[in-house]
Amino acid sequence: TIIGLEVHAQIKTKSKLFSSASTAYGAEANSQTHFIDAGLPGTLPVLNEKVVKKAIQFGFAIGAEIINDSQFERKNYFYPDLPKGYQISQFQRPIVKNGQLNIHLSNGVEKSIMINRAHIEEDAGKSVHEEFFNQTGIDLNRAGTPLLEIVTEPCISSAEEAIAYLKVLHKLVRFIDLCDGNMQEGSFRCDVNLSVKKQDTKQLGVRTELKNLNSFKFIEKAILFEEQRHRRLLDAGESIIQETRLYNPDKDATYAMRTKESENDYRYFPDPDLLPIEVDQTFLTDCQQTMPELPSEIEKSLRQIETFTD
Ligand code: ADP
Ligand code: MG
Repeated sequence: TIIGLEVHAQIKTKSKLFSSASTAYGAEANSQTHFIDAGLPGTLPVLNEKVVKKAIQFGFAIGAEIINDSQFERKNYFYPDLPKGYQISQFQRPIVKNGQLNIHLSNGVEKSIMINRAHIEEDAGKSVHEEFFNQTGIDLNRAGTPLLEIVTEPCISSAEEAIAYLKVLHKLVRFIDLCDGNMQEGSFRCDVNLSVKKQDTKQLGVRTELKNLNSFKFIEKAILFEEQRHRRLLDAGESIIQETRLYNPDKDATYAMRTKESENDYRYFPDPDLLPIEVDQTFLTDCQQTMPELPSEIEKSLRQIETFTD
């Protein structure tokens, strides 16, 4: 089994990524929607500096490269909760590249999970179905909320490793005050990419993607189900369709949602309204000096105290 995880962590800021609207959760629909978040013509996004600082501090925490002149790009797609018709994200040049996090497994083994990239992007709005009969409401309060998308290499090989990694990551983002980690409110959500291949082959199998899982329990169950589904199909000589699937906790099963878009469908291009992010030495030094203590460092110093007092 080969798994790669994409985590969307909502970055803790008072205002949105490109506008002054509040990011507070639970307000009346569309009461926290700036013209910029609604994508009205003639508006211009202004980058929230705190987001950049938090993203860089996350990069330090996972021993990654910080990319100078990272770039925002437009990811084009149509959806009712995305009035601009594109999401501002980073693609070719993400702000953070090549880091890692160590996990401890139940058999005593320590493993490094390789993080390929972490990039800044804006969240979309929300379609609301419950309150309307035969209609869909749109709430743009969440539109433009800053997210850090953290993407691993396909280097995770079981549900246990995936959950161990997610728990270490969840702890880290809370300790460095990047994200409140509230999974019910969707501040920390995970997409699972999974494929299965023969042990002795190098080439990865065709993957499916399980979208927007927001509890450790469901992530674990979804992986176990999907792994078995792949194995069953492959053993029967059938092939896997590359697609996005949803996990239904009531049925404990995954269902096809849509066939997967490819990169080309999104027509990425650099956002002409936003300059590349130049991070100079003064800014980096400030990020370094105001860096909160990491959970792994705290653990180490507590263990030292333990040995002193033994
Ligand atoms: P996309 O942009 O389509 O989501 P990426 O290439 O950025 O695709 O990969 C997304 C995630 O999928 C990464 O975490 C990566 O490690 C994982 N991944 C890619 N190929 C496979 C595969 N064959 N099996 C399992 N995971 C994969
Ligand atoms: Mg993806």
